[in-house]
Amino acid sequence: MDLWFTEYQTPALGFSCKINSTLRVEQTPYQHLAVIDTQQFGRMLLLDGMVMTTDVDEYVYHEMIMNVALNSHPAPENILIIGGGDGGTLREAVRHPLVKKATLVEIDARVIEVSREYFPKLSGAFDHPKASVIVADGVEYVKEHIHEYDIIAVDSTEPVGPAIALFRPEFYRDCESSLKEDGMLVVQSESPFFNGDVIEMAYAGISQYFPVTKLYLASIPTYPSGLWSFTVGSKRYDPERPLSTDHKLRYYNPEIHRAAFVLPGMVRGILAGISTSR
Ligand code: SAM
Repeated sequence: MDLWFTEYQTPALGFSCKINSTLRVEQTPYQHLAVIDTQQFGRMLLLDGMVMTTDVDEYVYHEMIMNVALNSHPAPENILIIGGGDGGTLREAVRHPLVKKATLVEIDARVIEVSREYFPKLSGAFDHPKASVIVADGVEYVKEHIHEYDIIAVDSTEPVGPAIALFRPEFYRDCESSLKEDGMLVVQSESPFFNGDVIEMAYAGISQYFPVTKLYLASIPTYPSGLWSFTVGSKRYDPERPLSTDHKLRYYNPEIHRAAFVLPGMVRGILAGISTSR
């Protein structure tokens, strides 16, 4: 008998994959956590039944949430990552040559511990000399660290549970204060096909506090609809402009960097409908 896992991406749409085994299932103080071994994507981390990351396609999301800002800021030395407890975004930060320090603030220690056990490709970053790993609420952390960071990346779950506050305007205001005067904020803002409301929240909230606010896209097979968005707020530099041409990874390269900001009409339509009154 075949065993399948299904994520209900909408009440009417399931994403299913055949699994070899279930490796871990538990209820943490914040969410339901599972690790399954899938035939198509290798190991898969699930939180509250949603795909967070997989062995096979993790590099797309982690390279794109981090390297667009890293490669459009001239001196990305001090990085803050909110969420990201699997370690993939932190890996991208610490391997960038200009980064001197990367701090990860994850609210759920169990995500970090489980990633250490099952996702060594991602969690190896936790022990990097440039890395600092803190278990705390990112909402509170940014209030206590003013004008410290060159880049803040919010690698959060969708707006449920402790992540709800990470999509509010006051959090974006506090991130703006936590950034240096030329800093950048990048947040994962979900799927243009299924989560236009989340894109609206992120884009409208960020554009209240940042002079430059832009959206870019990447294709991620295991995320709802396969098309994913990131919203970036910048206090000075143009996030669309890659500064180095020799920064090439498995998905990210300077050409993809530029192309990611070219938006299809339906995504432009979502942004056009947002009043960005500041
Ligand atoms: N790439 C995934 C996505 O796009 O959905 C996100 C992966 S990462 C595992 C998401 C992390 O955000 C979770 O581990 C969750 O515990 C963490 N998180 C949620 N709310 C948080 C908060 N307020 N402060 C810090 N971490 C938070």
